[in-house]
Amino acid sequence: MKGIIAEKPGGAEQLIYAEMPEPTLEPGDLLIDVRATAVNRTDILNREGRLGYANNPIIGVEVAGEVAESNGHPDFKKGDRVMGLVNGGGYAEKVAMPADRAMKMPDALSFEEAAAIPEVFLTAYQTLYWIANLQEAETVLIHAGASGVGTAAIQLAKVMSNAQIITTAGSKEKLDYCHKLGADTVINYKEQDFAEEVLQATNQKGVDVILDFVGASYWEKNYKSIAVDGRWVLIGVLGGSTVNQVSLMDIMAKRIQLTGTLLTPRSDEYKAELSKDFISKAFTYFEQGKVRPVVDITFPITEAAEAHQYMEANKNIGKITLKV
Ligand code: NAP
Repeated sequence: MKGIIAEKPGGAEQLIYAEMPEPTLEPGDLLIDVRATAVNRTDILNREGRLGYANNPIIGVEVAGEVAESNGHPDFKKGDRVMGLVNGGGYAEKVAMPADRAMKMPDALSFEEAAAIPEVFLTAYQTLYWIANLQEAETVLIHAGASGVGTAAIQLAKVMSNAQIITTAGSKEKLDYCHKLGADTVINYKEQDFAEEVLQATNQKGVDVILDFVGASYWEKNYKSIAVDGRWVLIGVLGGSTVNQVSLMDIMAKRIQLTGTLLTPRSDEYKAELSKDFISKAFTYFEQGKVRPVVDITFPITEAAEAHQYMEANKNIGKITLKV
């Protein structure tokens, strides 16, 4: 089979589509004929050799495809259309996927749309509900609203909790899109002080939950934006990972719950539980057409390098997928 690896750690030009051995199945794995996969920031870190926990040379953490071999699993048969997280190896013609995290694709979705779901919707669901414990009608600040995770989080927070959603992004086009997806207040962080806008939108109270992809460069404004007893979930460091002079007293004074999380290095058991809970609580919204994956652009897998460059240039609204 063929798949994408980084010839050596570095830029997108290092990505090559090469012949490689088919995956070996562990007990409980399905063999998937991959029809589409999708690009994530974690793939870029993997390509650069900066992911200490990636143990698969083939890049890619999510796929949609057809079951090629069910490996004796009673719930799946050859030809079933499935999507889900994989432990690396997604940018390839075939991949092994533990059956206990495989999600049967909603009928209406294409493979490219389904491949745009697992990583960002599971991350959005996990951080909003398992970690931040978002409650009905609470306020949530979702940064990078037009990102893959942002577009998923806006939709889930609106449909599942009728949350008041405030989002930031770097262009009018992105903000208009976030508004269409359900964001109530949209802020261009390049032109406006988002903390001031958040306080104005919340009667000076601040937000109950922050989904923070940005980290260091947003630290102070996030602190100003969060309400007393707020939950602040750190899931990315696009704006740097070192904050100088943190006042721990400030964290105590607002009784902030600050949590960091990374999905990719989580255990197989965690990913299976998360996928199952997501299916039981959120799948119905896809079937009803109330929530949908947002695919910005699809590249052929042979153009994985161009797809990475597109993400690194911050061009995408929603997901970048690869057709296999
Ligand atoms: P994405 O689709 O590539 O979107 C990221 C967007 O963030 C960019 O398009 C850009 O939009 C904005 N951005 C980039 N640098 C920025 C900066 N310095 N300050 C403010 N905004 C910036 O990303 P994604 O795949 O959804 O992932 C979003 C983040 O979540 C990434 O950091 C990723 O690593 C993280 N993530 C974490 C987990 C986890 O488990 N912890 C799981 C999945 C993803 P603008 O044009 O609006 O600036």
